[in-house]
Amino acid sequence: MASVHPSDFPPPFENSDYVARPQAGEDERIEVGVLIVGGGPAGLASAVRLGQLIGDDPELAETLGEVPIALAEKGKAPGSHLLSGAVINPTSLKELFAETDPAEIPHYWEVDKEAVYFLSKSSSFRIPPPPQLRNHHNWVISISQLARWMSEKAEELGVYLLPETDCQQVLVDQGRVAGVITGDKGRGKDRQELPTFEPGMEVHARTTVLAEGTPGHLTSVIRRHFELDRYSIQTWELGVKEVWEVPTGLDRLIHTTGWPLRLGKKWREYGGSWLYPMGDDKISLGFVVGLDYADATLSVHDILQEFKTHPLIKGILKDGRRLAWGAKTIPGSGIYGLPSRLHVPGAVFVGDSAGFVDLAALKGVQYAIRSGMLAADAIYEALKANHASAPAGLWCYDKRIKDSPVWSDLWKVRNIRPAFQRGFAFGGMVHGMATASRGHFPKKITPIRDATEPVFLGKRTPITADGQLTFDKLSSVFASGNKTRDDQPDHIRIQTRVPRILAVAWENMCPAKVYEIAADGATNGTVTVHTNPSNCVQCGAITAKGGRLTPPEGGSGPEYTLT
Ligand SMILES: Cc1cc2nc3c(=O)[nH]c(=O)nc-3n(C[C@H](O)[C@H](O)[C@H](O)COP(=O)(O)OP(=O)(O)OC[C@H]3O[C@@H](n4cnc5c(N)ncnc54)[C@H](O)[C@@H]3O)c2cc1C
Ligand code: SF4
Repeated sequence: MASVHPSDFPPPFENSDYVARPQAGEDERIEVGVLIVGGGPAGLASAVRLGQLIGDDPELAETLGEVPIALAEKGKAPGSHLLSGAVINPTSLKELFAETDPAEIPHYWEVDKEAVYFLSKSSSFRIPPPPQLRNHHNWVISISQLARWMSEKAEELGVYLLPETDCQQVLVDQGRVAGVITGDKGRGKDRQELPTFEPGMEVHARTTVLAEGTPGHLTSVIRRHFELDRYSIQTWELGVKEVWEVPTGLDRLIHTTGWPLRLGKKWREYGGSWLYPMGDDKISLGFVVGLDYADATLSVHDILQEFKTHPLIKGILKDGRRLAWGAKTIPGSGIYGLPSRLHVPGAVFVGDSAGFVDLAALKGVQYAIRSGMLAADAIYEALKANHASAPAGLWCYDKRIKDSPVWSDLWKVRNIRPAFQRGFAFGGMVHGMATASRGHFPKKITPIRDATEPVFLGKRTPITADGQLTFDKLSSVFASGNKTRDDQPDHIRIQTRVPRILAVAWENMCPAKVYEIAADGATNGTVTVHTNPSNCVQCGAITAKGGRLTPPEGGSGPEYTLT
C-alpha cells in the first residue's frame, strides 16, 4: 500500500529567524524583572507564587524595577486558549492557595463515582478502572475558568498581565535568554502595514519562564538553539472537546476505550474518551487520539462526532445541546520528551513546555502547577543570590523538579505510551508490567516520532452532521468563539506542494478545516494545499505531523470560556 512519511516534507521554517539580539534603546523597550510567557496553569502558578514571594520581600522587589513580574498571553483574555478535560489532582493547587478556602477555588465536583467502559460499535462493557484512571477525590474543573480566577489572584499580587500578546522571537544576548519580541498587530495578508498597525516590542527580562503549553513555539526555538533535544523524542495526542447542557446531569466520571478506534496494529489508533459532570446540567466530553495514527482519512473531530452516536453516549446527551467546542494537543512522551536540561541561561521550561504530562492518566494540570511553583521558588532563590543571570544560575530548578513527584510520577509511567505505539497487545502487556513494578520494568521503550510514522489512505468516510447531535467542522469552529479576521498573514508553515496522501492526512487531521486540496489537484501524485488560517484554533496538531504552527497575531484564535 502506498504510504508517505510526513517528516520527508519539513516545513519552511528557519529556527534562526526567531532568535534575535536585543537592539531597542532604553525608551523603546519594556523592562521587567521576570517575564512569564503563557497564561495556562503553569505560567499562572509561577506568577502567583512569585507574587507571593516577592510581595513578602520589598527589598528584592525594588531591585526588579517598576514591573517585577509580567505575564504575556496570546489569547484575547486569560483562559481564552485553554482547553483540558479536566479532572485534576488538586494537591498542588490547594498548596499554592493555602490561604484560600478550597471551596472558593473554581471546581465543579470532587469525584466519588466513576466507570470505565470498553465500547464496540453498538454495545458497552464495563471494565475495572486501571490504577491510572482512578480519580476518587480529584476535582472536575474547566481549565479556562480556573485560569481566569488564577489570573485575578495574580493581578491582586501585583503581576502585570499582557493579554493579546504573542511572543514571536526570543532575545539572546551573550548566550543568555534576555527576553522576547512580541508580534506586530495590524498587518495584512502580505504582511503589509494596515491603518491599525502597531509594531511589536522588545520585552527585556532578568529571567524568562517558558509556559507556552503545547507545542510551544518559542520553547521549541530555544530548545533547538541551545541543542537540548538531542536525546528527547516528543509525540503528541490530539484532543477534541465539547461542553453540553443536558436535562439530567451525569452522576459519575466516565472513560471509554475501543470504538470508534480500531485495534489492529496497522492502524496505530491509540486513545479514548472522557465524560465528566460539570454540575447538575453540564457535561464535558471529549476524545483523544495519538497523532502517530496511520490512516490519512482519520479525523479526530469526526471520531468525537461518531462517538456521540453510540447508544451509551447518545442516551446521556439526549435532549441536550452543545454549548462549546475546542481542540488542543497534549505532549505524550513524558520523560522521554523532556529537554536535556530544564533551564538555559536566563530561562526555565514549565508545564507542557517541558512535557510534564502523565498520558496514561491523562494528567498534566497538577504537574503544570507544581513545576510553575518550583520554577518560582528557584528563580526567587537565584534572584536573591544575584546569580539568576549566571550561566548555571537556574540549575536549582532542575534539582527541585528531580526531587519532586513531577519526576517520580512520570518516571513510573514512561514506557506505557511508547509501548502502545507497537500495538495494543504489546501496549497492554507493558502497561501491566510497568504498573505492577512501579516503573522498574521494562527498562526503556523509545518513543517513535509521529511525523516519521508512515500514513496511507484508508477508508474512513466523513460524518454526515445532523446539527443536533453531530456537527461539521465549520460549526465547531464557530462554537469555539473564533472571530479571527480573515486578512491576517498566514501563521501556518507547511510545504504547499505535497503528495496527495499527505494533503489528505492534513485535511482530515485539522479539526478546524484549515487545509484544502486545490480543486485542480491530481487524484494521485503531487497536489497543492491551500490554507484558511483564520479558522485555526491553534491546536498544534500540524507541528506533530510535518508542519509548523507559529503564533498568529495576539488576540486571535478561539475564545474559550467553558473548556
Ligand atoms: C484534550 C485534553 C484533555 C486533557 N485532560 C486533562 C485532565 O483531565 N486532567 C489533567 O490534569 N490534565 C489534562 N490535560 C493536560 C493539561 O490540560 C495540560 O497538561 C495543562 O493545561 C498544561 O498547562 P500549561 O500551563 O503548561 O499549558 P497550557 O494550558 O497549554 O497553557 C499555555 C498558555 O500559553 C499561551 N501561549 C502559548 N504560546 C504563547 C506565546 N508564544 N506567547 C504568548 N502566549 C503563549 C497559550 O495561549 C496558553 O494560554 C488535557 C489536555 C488536553 C489537550
Ligand atoms: S491549522 Fe490550526 S487548528 Fe488546524 S491542525 Fe494546524 S494548528 Fe490545529
